[in-house]
Amino acid sequence: RDDAARGRDDDLDRQLSERFGLPSFRPWQREAVAEILHGSGRCLVLAPTGGGKSLCYQFPASVLGGTSIVISPLIALMEDQVRSLNDRGIPATYLASTVDADERRARERDLFAGKFALVYIAPERLAAPGVVEKLARLRPPLVAIDEAHCISQWGHDFRPDYLRIGEVLRALAPPRVVACTATATPAVRAEILEKLGLPDGETKVVLRGFARPNLHLSAIECDGRSSRRSWMMRAIDDALGSPREPKGAAIVYAGTRRSTEEVAGLVAARGYRVAAYHAGLEPEQRSVVSEAFAKRQLDVVVATNAFGMGIDRPDIRCVVHVAPPGSIEAYYQEVGRAGRDGQPAWGLLLSGSNDIGLRRRLIEHGRDGQQVDPAERDRQWNLFRELLRYVEAGSCRHDFILRYFGDEQELLGGCGHCDVCERLEREGEGERKIGEEEALIVRKALAGVARAQRRAGMLAVADMLHGVSDERQKKLGFTELSTFGILKGHSREWLISLLRRMVTAGLVEITASEFPMPYLSALGAKVMRAQEPVRVLLPPVETTKAPKGR
Ligand code: ADP
Ligand code: ZN
Repeated sequence: RDDAARGRDDDLDRQLSERFGLPSFRPWQREAVAEILHGSGRCLVLAPTGGGKSLCYQFPASVLGGTSIVISPLIALMEDQVRSLNDRGIPATYLASTVDADERRARERDLFAGKFALVYIAPERLAAPGVVEKLARLRPPLVAIDEAHCISQWGHDFRPDYLRIGEVLRALAPPRVVACTATATPAVRAEILEKLGLPDGETKVVLRGFARPNLHLSAIECDGRSSRRSWMMRAIDDALGSPREPKGAAIVYAGTRRSTEEVAGLVAARGYRVAAYHAGLEPEQRSVVSEAFAKRQLDVVVATNAFGMGIDRPDIRCVVHVAPPGSIEAYYQEVGRAGRDGQPAWGLLLSGSNDIGLRRRLIEHGRDGQQVDPAERDRQWNLFRELLRYVEAGSCRHDFILRYFGDEQELLGGCGHCDVCERLEREGEGERKIGEEEALIVRKALAGVARAQRRAGMLAVADMLHGVSDERQKKLGFTELSTFGILKGHSREWLISLLRRMVTAGLVEITASEFPMPYLSALGAKVMRAQEPVRVLLPPVETTKAPKGR
């Protein structure tokens, strides 16, 4: 590196501290900012939430002169950013449909008088007649697209309004474009570049470490509601210490509005200051909860995935999912809210075979019971299967996630403190290989699924394999089957895990009916007949027992 470049770096840092009061850029931020200001002017920034992506457009916008445009889907986040920019003396505003017409006109007047260094715009505003033409008159020196993965149909958070952005960029033809996202899978990355019309090769991609080594990740397969709740309670107690003097905060993610209320009740009974949060609450009620959490008047929030945008509390010590989210992206984003201060923090993901059926139905029928497009359905199902693979991972969880995001540089080769690393350490084994005996177990289980002929759910099939002779099994005719008790040497819990693994391996499919039922896929049928090899890692032998109530 030459002196000129070093001089420029010093210059950037000086401006950073003058304008933003921050001592220095993170190395990757400097790389992105230099590319935008002094390089090609095209940059895609991939970094986890809270990593510091917004500086990559706020800083250039503050030094460029003129008005830069930021497209962002989250109004609450826009408000926060605009406020903190204004606090620093950087004039900024936002336009969204929540701003009333008079106020919007006033903001637009100031905007075209050149008063702002940045204007934030919600993507749906771009559809309003004449807006793009008006914005073109601004001749923005920079257009930034935040949450750029929303343009990707392969991502987990596709928003049709984002598709318009490619066109908008062509109309505005800005000399600089920066796109930011926390979703970095190679497929999503490629789609962002394509849809934004940023040539591959000519656009600098800055991929910041997704590694969060201070997180202690674990995932447990368990079905019972009460055992999930005792795992959850134990995780909270372990992370926070005691309800009297909690060492920070915890977030619990639950699947439904009702379960957030129920679980919050349990946590309250334990003595923590807790509130439930979900989209069914009145907006005022929701902001009361968010603010109380931010001000440390609450220790725990039990929420649906509606909670989290813009949470900036650094001392979250633990994030528990009592129901799994729909993808690894969503999971990593949610669990990534823990440990922002760099101190140790814990993430626990609880999921069971029930969730597979629930998710299948949700995907099939959508949230409002509407028919979902088949391609969309497959896409969502694949994202969820990846998450189940994560749960079953036979090697380090951090490495699994880093590989998933394509962040190969940061692979840890085993973090040493996730549950899988600890288990491997204890058992002194590497990746388990599948032997003849184990392959036979898988084939027997597949035979059981075939004999069940879509007559029963996962639990009943597991009971059949184990040989539980109760009324239900008799009624189903399962006690008469040749596969009844064919795997009686294995516990029901273990058999349920095995069935799940066969789902994620694509050997078993699940019906989308009201009571989801497993059946053999074409591949599963071949594997059963030994026409294809078995490629499933068996569940660990020890079954994890839920902690007894404390
Ligand atoms: P992201 O957009 O990636 O989710 P933000 O841009 O909101 O993350 O940044 C998260 C936090 O990190 C903010 O509080 C911000 O002030 C802080 N931050 C960003 N860059 C730096 C830096 N170079 N030095 C210190 N703090 C920083
Ligand atoms: Zn590990």
